[in-house]
Amino acid sequence: MTGASVYSKIRPEHLRRQAVVYVRQSGTHQVRSNRESRQRQYALIERAKALGWPAKGVETIDEDQGRSGRGSEHRQGFKKLMAEIGAGQVGVVLALEASRLARSSVDWHRLVEICVITQTLLADETAVYDPRDPNDRLLLGVKGTISEAELFTLRCRLHEGRWNKARRGELNRSLPVGFVRTETGEVLKNPDRQVQARLNYIFRLFRQIKVARRVLRRLVDEKLKIPGQIWGGPRHGQMIWKEPDFADLMRILHNPTYAGAYVYGQHEYDSFDRSPTNGKAKMHPRPIEEWTVCLQGVYPAYIPWEQFVENRRLLRSNWYRHESCGAPRKGSALLQGIVFCGRCGAKMRGYHYSTKEKRAPGYACVYAYVRHGRTPCQSMSTRGIDEAVAELFLSAVSPAKIEIALQAMEELEAQRQETLRQWDLQLQQADYEVELARRRYESADPENRLVAAELESSWEEALHQRQHLQQQRAAFEHQPGQSVGDEDRRMIRELSQDLERVWNASTTTMEERKTLLRLLVKRVHLDGVSEAGKIRIDVEWHTGAHSSIKVDRLRVRVWAPKTPPKAVQRIHELLPGHDYASIAKVLNREGFKSAKGLPFNGQTVGYVVRSRGWSPKAGKINRPRKATS
Ligand SMILES: [Zn+2]
Repeated sequence: MTGASVYSKIRPEHLRRQAVVYVRQSGTHQVRSNRESRQRQYALIERAKALGWPAKGVETIDEDQGRSGRGSEHRQGFKKLMAEIGAGQVGVVLALEASRLARSSVDWHRLVEICVITQTLLADETAVYDPRDPNDRLLLGVKGTISEAELFTLRCRLHEGRWNKARRGELNRSLPVGFVRTETGEVLKNPDRQVQARLNYIFRLFRQIKVARRVLRRLVDEKLKIPGQIWGGPRHGQMIWKEPDFADLMRILHNPTYAGAYVYGQHEYDSFDRSPTNGKAKMHPRPIEEWTVCLQGVYPAYIPWEQFVENRRLLRSNWYRHESCGAPRKGSALLQGIVFCGRCGAKMRGYHYSTKEKRAPGYACVYAYVRHGRTPCQSMSTRGIDEAVAELFLSAVSPAKIEIALQAMEELEAQRQETLRQWDLQLQQADYEVELARRRYESADPENRLVAAELESSWEEALHQRQHLQQQRAAFEHQPGQSVGDEDRRMIRELSQDLERVWNASTTTMEERKTLLRLLVKRVHLDGVSEAGKIRIDVEWHTGAHSSIKVDRLRVRVWAPKTPPKAVQRIHELLPGHDYASIAKVLNREGFKSAKGLPFNGQTVGYVVRSRGWSPKAGKINRPRKATS
């Protein structure tokens, strides 16, 4: 293209409008690594000036940096460009390769169309195109198509390459903590014995307790740290010890690498479900059977593959959902997780003390309300129901069955020993560090005071650290109620003859009761509506048998605390001529206590007055009022 033809395309009306330099690169990675191309893009500003535009008439749009191409909906810069061209403010658009302006053919053709209407030129490093010229227009069309085809094949090639490597298990995936890759590419367990032991401990704990949140709580209670890795930055990949964190724990439990498997394609990307903020396709996990590449026995395993599959199943079933019962929780509603509505079949929720009203815990069928905004189906207090189910359960269980509980106690003791072992490992590490610091200090040149002082202080620090650990370990060892001694065992064996006593013991937690109950009871259906004043309880046993009982629906008055009758009488006497606050003062002076055994105040007096239907007006006579006129 000769200079003459270039300049013949640029007319004075073009020069009166703006020149826009459009800078674009996709991917933050490219922004970081491909500086040179960026330099070239900015050099286009100079080219705009050379073509005759004044310096202040050149605008740069580079808002798309760090955004990946394809489709314009998330590229603000491109939108802005289109708007300015559409408004007829742009004389020429300069881009590194004109067809890179738009990454999809649709965007590109739209751009060219608008340029035709608004008589806008397009330019790159070598040429200026006038979209109104039939030859240029043909060229631009072809360029756009080629660019899109190139992009497509490039992506396919990259994608295929990754997949081919992955299928052979050769695509190097980043390894989770607990593994190291040697210089020859071989993957080994982390040689640090403490890292290995802690990971093994986590997997063992999960196998015993079966609930990730409880594993986390154990680790926190035992003040044990978990190994982690630094992500990004100069210390990328370096192992560190960190406070246990739920997300980290889940990552460990969900990662198939620990079962020795090489996996690729665990997730699928839904291109119809994109993040509204960055336009990226959302990621959804695939079930194990659908993992595209899953090669077992590639890495040294911490757990067998079967256990990994089982762990995943457990983690899924612990989600509190309609289909699964969820893990037994601490709450005082005994039937939590296994209680269903006898009217509509939906799962009922256990609710607990609402903080203000101190209501008793209860069960409610709120499915209709939550899902469809309709009136809740039914709700009832747990009182009476829990007792009746417990009684049914206790009478159904023979004393022999409690051996299960004893086994559980022994497991508890084994867990305790295991924890102590973890502590010892941590102490060994501390011993080693003290020793190391001591040797460093002793081998230092005493003449070099500064270094010696520094080494001395780190020796002291290590000593201090060890002492701290020793204290913590001792505290754990001597925690009351942790140790299950022979004496305790004997008592439990005695108790095992009598489940009822175990069940009712104050030391038995609600979680344990729920776990015991679930050994036998599959589901409980409640119906408190069909028969007035009664609740029908249907118990479905794991054996397939059913039992039905009816209990009386508790009326609030039966168990709600009552204001002492004498106080009520006194309030009635004082009501004419006194306001609530002054009645309360009198009552407190005379030593009366409210229903909850507390001193009276205006509110509690008001409650008594209203609930008995006495005229509250009488109580307001003496209330001080400001004259209105
Ligand atoms: Zn219902």
